[in-house]
Amino acid sequence: MLQEKLIEKGKKYLANTYTRFPIVVTKGEGCWLWDMEGRRYLDFLSGIAVCNLGHAPKSVVEALTNQANRFFHVSNLFHTEVQIRAAELLVEHSFADKVFFCNSGAEANEAAIKLARRYSWKKYGEGRAEIVAMENSFHGRTMATLSATGQTKFHVGFSPLLEGFAFVPFNDRSALEKAISERTCAIILELIQSEGGVYVADKEYIKFIRELADQRDILIILDEVQTGMGRTGKLFGYEHYGMEPDVVSLAKALGGGFPVGAIIAKEGAASAFEPGAHASTFGGNALACSAIVATINTLIGEGIVANCDKMGKLLVEGLLALKRKFPFMVDVRGMGLLLGIELSIPGELLVQEFLKEGVILYATKGNVLRLLPPLIVSREEVDLFLDIATRVFERQKP
Ligand SMILES: *Cc1c(COP(=O)(O)O)cnc(C)c1O
Repeated sequence: MLQEKLIEKGKKYLANTYTRFPIVVTKGEGCWLWDMEGRRYLDFLSGIAVCNLGHAPKSVVEALTNQANRFFHVSNLFHTEVQIRAAELLVEHSFADKVFFCNSGAEANEAAIKLARRYSWKKYGEGRAEIVAMENSFHGRTMATLSATGQTKFHVGFSPLLEGFAFVPFNDRSALEKAISERTCAIILELIQSEGGVYVADKEYIKFIRELADQRDILIILDEVQTGMGRTGKLFGYEHYGMEPDVVSLAKALGGGFPVGAIIAKEGAASAFEPGAHASTFGGNALACSAIVATINTLIGEGIVANCDKMGKLLVEGLLALKRKFPFMVDVRGMGLLLGIELSIPGELLVQEFLKEGVILYATKGNVLRLLPPLIVSREEVDLFLDIATRVFERQKP
């Protein structure tokens, strides 16, 4: 009752931009959430791939508390040890030499787009600012990242979009080769098109892009906002591909639930930004950076990335067994704990059925169920999920 009343109140005061679960969350711990009525839910959504360490992870709580007792924010007119440490950790564990901090995935992609254009402008002058992006991609909701997003449903009513983006089908080598011209400065793509329905980039395709980019001095921007921070079973998605990108955008899980974003880049590309070229007031905020440091240390130090790989394989194994039993399961795909189940029936229907059973997950593209559990998920929790999935799927039988 109380919960329903509060939901009604929310509708009165909040902009009507989201379709929400009928739940008021009051507590989170590990892979579990509680609502106002004391009901417990197994969270296979993780705040949309944000809570990779689960809810209220001790190391991040401690880091934030300690930092909050010192100072929150001083701006980028100062040096802070915690910001330098966060950047050092990202560089130590990646291909990159330099880090720029911001606050969200869209803002990270904005920075990547600006960096690529600036890099090209410094080297080649005007007229070489086009960015080739992928059909079915998702890069964010700001005007530039919307313009780079290859799904028209997100564009409706927001014209004119920004100029300078060309689109090609994902995983199509010859289309990409044809789209590259003397005007191209960068290619932007996700390694897994998660919002687009969980489509994984081919290994050969990514190798081909690297060769093409090297020949033409084009930057490769990987949007790892969702695939980063252990989600695919390695710290960064590109590690699966035996290639190094030029720029990677990060956000979502980077702060263990604290809102942060960043781009990490090779020196050559990063040097296109000099003082005054780009900035963000909150970027690299001390609280945010304390969360980043704790998140990276915990992901690596406590074997959580390895757990993601192991639990991901277990989950896929279980799902493939279910697929043999339930013909409406068309495909199971993804990497690590970024998994999609393509269905021949509406996904939304099943999301509601799972919710009744106390499991939170999400559908995309109408008929793809997306599984994004915290990377700390245990074998028992994976088994519990598979048991519940069996029950839910059995009810769908005609
Ligand atoms: C979520 C997401 C974004 C946008 O991130 P925001 O923090 O919501 O701006 C961009 N790219 C990808 C791949 C994402 O998954």
